[in-house]
Amino acid sequence: MDEAVSAVLRANGYLWDLYTRREEYEPIFLDGLGRFRFFASQQRAPFDPVVSRFLFETGAFPAFPAGRRYAICLSHDIDALHLNRYRSGGAGLLSRARRAGARSAELLLSRSLKRGDPGWNLERIADIEKERGAKSAFYSLALEEGEKDFYFRVQEIGAQLRTLVARGWEAGLHGGHEAYCDPTALRREKARLEAELGTPVTGFRAHYLRFDVPGTWRLLTEAGFRYDTTFGYADCVGFRNGMCHPYTPFDRNADRFIPILEVPLAVMDTTLQLYMRLDPADAWTVIRRLLDAVAECSGVLTVLWHPQNMNGAWGDLYLRILDYGSDTDAWLTGPGELAGWWLSQQAGGNA
Ligand SMILES: [Zn+2]
Repeated sequence: MDEAVSAVLRANGYLWDLYTRREEYEPIFLDGLGRFRFFASQQRAPFDPVVSRFLFETGAFPAFPAGRRYAICLSHDIDALHLNRYRSGGAGLLSRARRAGARSAELLLSRSLKRGDPGWNLERIADIEKERGAKSAFYSLALEEGEKDFYFRVQEIGAQLRTLVARGWEAGLHGGHEAYCDPTALRREKARLEAELGTPVTGFRAHYLRFDVPGTWRLLTEAGFRYDTTFGYADCVGFRNGMCHPYTPFDRNADRFIPILEVPLAVMDTTLQLYMRLDPADAWTVIRRLLDAVAECSGVLTVLWHPQNMNGAWGDLYLRILDYGSDTDAWLTGPGELAGWWLSQQAGGNA
């Protein structure tokens, strides 16, 4: 598939440059977290999966199992477990959520505290998904005291994650601030999570969506990850390289593909709230447009919803995505299951 994609796309300079993110090799601006922002991009059609549409029309992609029209990949990043540490945290996640009108974070926190539940209702999220025939992945930070944005030890959440994995949900690594560019930090955090889970960790998403093109993909490959699902803009939903299908990233410096699968992130809840400043009603209008665009070319829409947004109007919006997906024949699953299936199709020569 890679060679075929390469040949077809190279013949179209614009699509090849978008697919390989040429502009990110010499960025004119990176933010304080080293992120390439949509507002500084030459790409002006983020809601249009233009590369995927083009490849779909050439018949490049496998059909989904059980006659599904398209896929919605569901995921949750676990940034914090405890109200007090979260509130006093330098990142001020809760205060930012409040400024965006997301009262749900506090509601969920206070309910969790009353019940003495430190785990942000991860089991409840799985229950809600199960009722709708869906599964998802939970990416957990695995930091230690003294590391930036340390709010909990992975041992505090290990039992819950193991229960979720036993139920068929996925646990992956939510890399801390340095993991995207520091191989030592990346391996250290991966080892901590694996020690707690007792199984290999193959999926990754970076905290704050920090990412370096193409370096992060190389680091992840060398550390033994099978797939990444970080690659979207923090400040705008949509398709950062025009793809709404899993793909093999290309290293323009080395002139070769990097042997890892990217399951591109398209929708992060906090992008809608904090960067795009949408209310839930307008956010739905945007999400529905993305879902329909993805369905048209039998692609994948990857959604990141933080556990603290599972209540109130934003929680309702998450359910609406699941219900809309069910009504439109979407495969509702986590990035790990999707990636495993996708790679098996490639290995079988079907793609
Ligand atoms: Zn995070």
